Order: sequence, then structure tokens, then C-alpha cells
Amino acid sequence: MDANDTIPFSSPWLRFNHFGDKLNAAFQRVASSNSYILGNEVEQFENNFSQYIGTKYCVGVNSATDGLALSLMALGIKPGDEVITAGLTAPATVTAILQAGATPVVVDVLDTTLCINPAEIRKAITKNTKAIIPVHLHGFACEMDEIMAIAAEYNLFVIEDCSQAHGASFNKKKLGSIGDCGVFSFYPTKNLGCMGDGGAITTNNVSIATQLKALRNYGLQDNNVAEAGINSRLDEVQAAILNMLLPALDDYNECRRKYANLYHNALKELPLKIPPLELQAVYHQFPVRIENRDKFRDRLKKEGVLTGIHYDKAICWHEAFKPYCRPLPVAMKAAEELVSLPIQSEILDVHFEIITDKIKTCLTPYNPV
Ligand SMILES: *Cc1c(COP(=O)(O)O)cnc(C)c1O
Repeated sequence: MDANDTIPFSSPWLRFNHFGDKLNAAFQRVASSNSYILGNEVEQFENNFSQYIGTKYCVGVNSATDGLALSLMALGIKPGDEVITAGLTAPATVTAILQAGATPVVVDVLDTTLCINPAEIRKAITKNTKAIIPVHLHGFACEMDEIMAIAAEYNLFVIEDCSQAHGASFNKKKLGSIGDCGVFSFYPTKNLGCMGDGGAITTNNVSIATQLKALRNYGLQDNNVAEAGINSRLDEVQAAILNMLLPALDDYNECRRKYANLYHNALKELPLKIPPLELQAVYHQFPVRIENRDKFRDRLKKEGVLTGIHYDKAICWHEAFKPYCRPLPVAMKAAEELVSLPIQSEILDVHFEIITDKIKTCLTPYNPV
């Protein structure tokens, strides 16, 4: 813990450190392999992860941002094509659409899960619409039945942004196995995270997988570049770390669910809006909502508890994205009220009681925020 006993919001090192000798062995294995780019570790991880998600193929890439852009490229999406996505997400989702040269169309979210609202997708469809990128925000699944039905009706591709939903399901199907592509980030603080940048794309379509393998590696295929790609490879060191962590992912997600349950019990009497209890969610975040959000966070910080916000800006509040946004009243209201409480098991195993006590202290009737 920090010297001043502040409880961190998240700490990847607390996780990596558990692996001790295994972590050192992973580094050593890569170092002595003399093969640092697209070697055994990446191949093994691609096999392991596609098996875990339940897809035929997995392609390791440098980040989820690249993974989303490369998926759009592999699906043949071109300048002028419109891609519909959610008004509350990491800026990366929208950046990726622009990176691929397409036009983002950003629509509002549901007040319950804060995931994309299928009714708003319908309203935004034009003759130029080619794809939908639903974002499984905070580890909760989007309404995939409705989204896949809309996609079938209008002949649209679906690329799931699973950056916050490793291991989560919808109707017993793992997220990332439902759309044409699933895109994952392994940014260090994600449910499955490495020690740098990393990402992967899952798909059941062999021609998409083949194109993605070329596009991530300059566009090279059989010593020929038919379509120019980029350099976006998952590297061997990150893949080795991911191979070490993947077998523990289900246990970590179960711990997040356990603490989500405990938070529910501990906080239910307080003037906070708590996220739904959902067995198939993986609680990448535990986002509560409160009107005086900034004051509440400041008080908690003074009490030694750090929190996060995901996100404090609706997509329309970013200068570059404003022109592409439909009205986003639900996303904007949420962006003013959201606070993410710590949810990482290594932190809560030690500090859960203190955190919930401090939250209660901050929210007593005599101490209104
Ligand atoms: C983290 C995140 C991304 C970006 O992932 P990178 O690997 O950093 O590119 C994209 N979308 C969502 C929803 C995310 O949470």
C-alpha cells in the first residue's frame, strides 16, 4: 500500500506479483526463445483465447483501438460508410472508426446498463450504414438479441467492443462470439491485462481471420501486399503474460461478482444508484451514480479511498466527436453522476470493510454531499 495508506482504485502489480516465479519464467522463456515477434507465445495465446471465447479464430494485435479499426478494414468498410456506436464509451471506440476512414454515428445508451440503446440504433440507420459497434460497458452485455436482429434486417456487420467484458456472457454465449468480430483490450487494468499494450480479435469467419492476420502485419500475405495494412502485432512478452493469466480469468471474474454482491448488501440503504446484479456480467467496473459526484469523490479521497470515473465525458463532449453525435441525454446525465468504486479482488480482499464504512461516513444524513 502507499505510504499514506491511501487505498488505490486499481493496481495491476498487486495481481502480477502473485505469479512470482511464473512471471519470471514467462520473461525468461521469451528472452531465451530468440523469437520476439509473432512466435510461439502469440500463437499459443491465439489458440487459448479462441478456445476460451468459443470462436474458431483469434488474431492478436497491439490494442483494442487497432483491433476495432482493423476489423472495420477487414470487413471492407470504406470512407463514406457509417458505423453506429454508443455515446458512453472509451474515446478509443470512436477514434478507431475514424482511424478506419469511416464515419461514426454515435447514439444514446440505455439507462439501466448504460449500453447502446437498440431503438436508437434503428433510428440512426441510413443507406450508408454498414456496421454496428456495441460496447459491453463496465462488463455488462449489450442487448445482443435485438442488435443481431437489427443487423440481419439491414444487412449490417456487428463488431463487439469487448474491452471491458472478457469472460462475460449473453444468454450463455461468451461476448466476442456473437457478432462478426469481437475485439478485446489487454490494457493493464482490464479484467485480462498485460504489462503494456495488447489486444485481440475473435471471429468464426476464416476469411476475416486471414485478412486480419495480413492487415496487422503491413498487409503481407504469401509475401505479397494486396491491401496495405499497418503494424499492429501483439508481442511475445505480452502474449506470455496473457498465457499465464488466462487460466485464472474465471476465478478473478467470480471474485468481482462476489464483491458486487457484497457492495449491494452494504450500500443498498444509501442514497446511491447501484448497478444491476447480473450473473453473466464481469464487473470490469462497479459504477455507482450520485448527483454530487465530484464532492462525493473528494470526500472519499480525504477519507483515503480513491475512485475512478467511467466516463466523465459523454462522447459528444469531445471536440473531435461532436459532429458525429445524435442527442445523448442518457449518456450525458450518467457522465455527470458516475463514480467507479474499487472492484479488484486484491484490493477488496484487504480493504472492503474500510471502503464501505468510509462510503457510509460520507453519506450519513448529517453529512450530505
Ligand atoms: C480500454 C478500451 C478501449 C481501448 O483499448 P486499447 O487497448 O487501449 O486500445 C476501447 N474500448 C473500450 C470500451 C475500452 O474500455
